[in-house]
Amino acid sequence: MITPRRLGTPLSPSATRIMLLGSGELGKEVIISLQRLGVEVIAVDRYPNAPGHQVAHRAHVIDMTDGAALAALIEQEQPDLVVPEIEAIATETLVALEAAGKLTCIPTARAAALTMNREGIRRLAAETLGVPTSPYRFASSLAELEEASAHIGFPCMVKPIMSSSGKGQSKLDSAADVKAAWDYAASGSRVDSGRVIVEGFVDFDYEITLLTVRSRAADGTIETQFCEPIGHLQVHGDYVESWQPQRMNPVALARSREIAAKVTADLGGLGLFGVELFVKGDEVWFSEVSPRPHDTGMVTMASQVQSEFEIHAKAILGLPVNVALRTPAASAVIYGQLDAAGIAFEGVAEALAVPGTDIRLFGKPESFARRRMGVALASAADADSARQLAREAAAKVKPVR
Ligand code: AMP
Repeated sequence: MITPRRLGTPLSPSATRIMLLGSGELGKEVIISLQRLGVEVIAVDRYPNAPGHQVAHRAHVIDMTDGAALAALIEQEQPDLVVPEIEAIATETLVALEAAGKLTCIPTARAAALTMNREGIRRLAAETLGVPTSPYRFASSLAELEEASAHIGFPCMVKPIMSSSGKGQSKLDSAADVKAAWDYAASGSRVDSGRVIVEGFVDFDYEITLLTVRSRAADGTIETQFCEPIGHLQVHGDYVESWQPQRMNPVALARSREIAAKVTADLGGLGLFGVELFVKGDEVWFSEVSPRPHDTGMVTMASQVQSEFEIHAKAILGLPVNVALRTPAASAVIYGQLDAAGIAFEGVAEALAVPGTDIRLFGKPESFARRRMGVALASAADADSARQLAREAAAKVKPVR
């Protein structure tokens, strides 16, 4: 167990030991923040030399959806905290181990289990907590999907319940699109559960990620704080640009915070959450929540006094956090653009010559055309100018063989 305000020495009997389940670009930054506090970090991923593996004390490669393998590794490493960084994990194993008092999961094993499945989190938000969402139905066969989409109406979105980043997701304009959407959902699902959610299409003005933090206040109680809203642009369900702050009218902002507070209070525990919301005028709809740093929140490495990664690291250790904005900023994704292992990047110097910019290259061993390999960051006097600079910098980085 973590004793708040007491941190040990890594690789010694006093060590504060944290295991990351998933060690991609987000995990890598959380690990760097933990390393700065002298935490002993164990990074786990499904492939060798994942970004987080490269900056941790120890690295393991296992199939994290294999409950027995996951339990054996946790038994071997005896971490004080287990921190899921991805959704595709045998969360039922985490729930069982947590119930048996054998681990502490961030924020809680129940939160990890609920949010890995679109059905779990949607029913919790809409049916238990009464938070506004798009209308929705679930379907487990083509015939059920035909009926569900006719009931919801067109346009609508179809997504596998076990998927993220737009995988297997499609927009349907009419009944003629149903069969293709069903087939595509089956191909994009993480686990072929054969179940999809149909959501009414929300014609939003803009969408935001509201980073919401549950951390210990000085008196030991848990308090909830909000970062400035992050605006983002998604292409095929995958984020390509984000910026902070997203300007919002006060009513929409208050509603967004109310929804985020409600959902995160129910999920419980300590840490940072990425609450995704759609906004149209004063109206706000809950979309989904990550109980961990969010990809669109990479902008906070440039915009905030403490990045979302530093905030998560501190919050899970029971330490106070600072959610203040430092400057308007933006992020733009650098894609692999080619399918190859061990690629190189040219144009980094040119990118960094763009005023106010910085670059992160994740060090992923293998590139795919649409794989996120890095991100350009830019700060400026306002978010729109920062977006232009970040885009300009990202475009100068050229992946080469
Ligand atoms: P998701 O994987 O659910 O986060 O969806 C990825 C992106 O698709 C979102 O960030 C939105 O841009 C878009 N999207 C998802 N669901 C809806 C919806 N019901 N209405 C409109 N756009 C949506």
